[in-house]
Amino acid sequence: MREGVPAAPAVAYVALGANLGDPVATVRAAALALAGLPDSRLTAVSSLYRTAPVGLLGQPDFINAVAALETALPPSVLLNELFAIEARFGRQRSIRNAPRTLDLDLLLHGATRCDDGRLTLPHPRMHERAFVLAPLAEIAPQLEIPGRGPVAGLLGACADQRIERVTVHTAAA
Ligand code: AMP
Repeated sequence: MREGVPAAPAVAYVALGANLGDPVATVRAAALALAGLPDSRLTAVSSLYRTAPVGLLGQPDFINAVAALETALPPSVLLNELFAIEARFGRQRSIRNAPRTLDLDLLLHGATRCDDGRLTLPHPRMHERAFVLAPLAEIAPQLEIPGRGPVAGLLGACADQRIERVTVHTAAA
């Protein structure tokens, strides 16, 4: 890239998940934080979904969502920004699949495919997780996951995973 010439924007998809504290409020606030990222525009946020924990059982259900960004940030820079948002929300990295105040995963960055030890794109487990595929299919129903296939078809194969859309009840005035 020539210096001073901005990169052409790519569409990136980010998965949001939380299961400690007030996870609904956390996921909403994290989506607002994504809207504030530099050189980026938040173009869509899915509904919130309540989902069963994967891997480490016996922990609270998760609240999950997926956001779409148009971004000129390269993948590794965007990942650093996601880590910074996680840290702001008090994320402690402990064991894999442990409960967390906020988890942000970079699912896709345009058609980029990479695996450099720190960043794998497409995210290596996204194609087998209903808590990613259902919100992703809601905001990008025609999306193809490079190397994996159409998001709708992949979601169909996850029918055994418990997931429900969160209905927000507001008190009557
Ligand atoms: P987790 O604890 O599940 O959020 O995993 C975070 C770790 O996965 C970090 O060390 C990242 O460097 C690594 N990682 C690899 N690919 C990705 C990705 N596409 N999105 C987020 N983290 C990733």
